[in-house]
Amino acid sequence: MNSIQFIDLKAQAEKIGPDIKRAMDRVFAHGKFIMGPEVYLLEKQLAEFIGAAYAVSCSSGTDGLLLSLMALGIGRGDAVFTTPFTFAATAEAISITGAEPVFVDVQPDTFNMDPRKLEGTIGKIEKEGRLNPRAVIPVDIFGLPADYVSINAIAQKYHLPVIEDGAQSFGAKWNGKFACNLTRIGVTSFFPAKPLGCYGDGGAVFTSDEALRDRLISLRVHGQGEDKYENIRLGINGRLDTLQAAILLEKIKIFNWEMEQRRSLAGCYRKSLAERVVCQHIPDGYESAWAQFSFVSDRRDAIIEKLKGKSIPTAIYYPNPLHLQKAFSFLGYAKGAFPVSEALSRTILSVPFHPYLSLETAETISHIILSVL
Ligand SMILES: *Cc1c(COP(=O)(O)O)cnc(C)c1O
Repeated sequence: MNSIQFIDLKAQAEKIGPDIKRAMDRVFAHGKFIMGPEVYLLEKQLAEFIGAAYAVSCSSGTDGLLLSLMALGIGRGDAVFTTPFTFAATAEAISITGAEPVFVDVQPDTFNMDPRKLEGTIGKIEKEGRLNPRAVIPVDIFGLPADYVSINAIAQKYHLPVIEDGAQSFGAKWNGKFACNLTRIGVTSFFPAKPLGCYGDGGAVFTSDEALRDRLISLRVHGQGEDKYENIRLGINGRLDTLQAAILLEKIKIFNWEMEQRRSLAGCYRKSLAERVVCQHIPDGYESAWAQFSFVSDRRDAIIEKLKGKSIPTAIYYPNPLHLQKAFSFLGYAKGAFPVSEALSRTILSVPFHPYLSLETAETISHIILSVL
């Protein structure tokens, strides 16, 4: 057996490597490395795929979140509600605008933002009066969309726009509708390990709001106006490279096939493991993009050791909830503030998962895990 990779990008490169090299050669030939024709073509294809009116490509998922917050005019004195059980980028983008992340704990079964706790937290911030509630950023953790029916209804009641952090959920669906298009703005990431990854950094913002689209386009090129030497607002250098767009145009061709592979692999793991560990609950009407396969077990350390002994890698997303990270200590949260996220951080485990992993290997891994339990 070849060694088992946690995420195997080489297997994918073997499948479509020659097509990608030809696509890159076309970029070398025309030489438009910044905002070349591939960028616009990709944006058109991404918007069509997701079903949003517009896709604005950008330099990373993190910058996509930052651009979205800037486009909504969010900054100092504002509160943006998100969860502490996520990658640092979500709360980091909020903080960089000058706004404050206000955390809302997650549900113990879906690992996503708990809508009931969202409403309570918005009320508390309003009552305190120190910060203005301005937006909500739910995260589609491990590829599963959050409960947007409830979250959008609460946000509407308080007149807050919702930004979907779909960095892990490109390709996921809720009732037939694609993730990244379940709120006013959706953001995804093309970091190599994400469901649709490029060969470097990249991201995209989706919206059907034309005024927001115009602001995003201006903000990603230094707040440009009619041309590049007219600056009408402060922006960033937030463009997607033409080379990355060319690579993504090839990868998107095999995306549906890869998503099918992910679905059957997840099904295989769940069938073997569901009775002995707690798998992420996928509510009716939801389809995950399966960015990771993660489950909860209080025997986590023993499972890690056993797999390690057989040279099978594992990962912990996330070992420390954001409110307990040094970078966010300025927010003043104490240990115990978000018990569900804290318990997940102690018990969550991710096992090897990618479209090129065979069902037999997943079964072998499952049996090793079961032998510990
Ligand atoms: C990866 C990720 C991001 C950041 O995306 P980058 O492209 O790496 O900047 C943001 N949020 C979540 C939930 C992520 O998983």
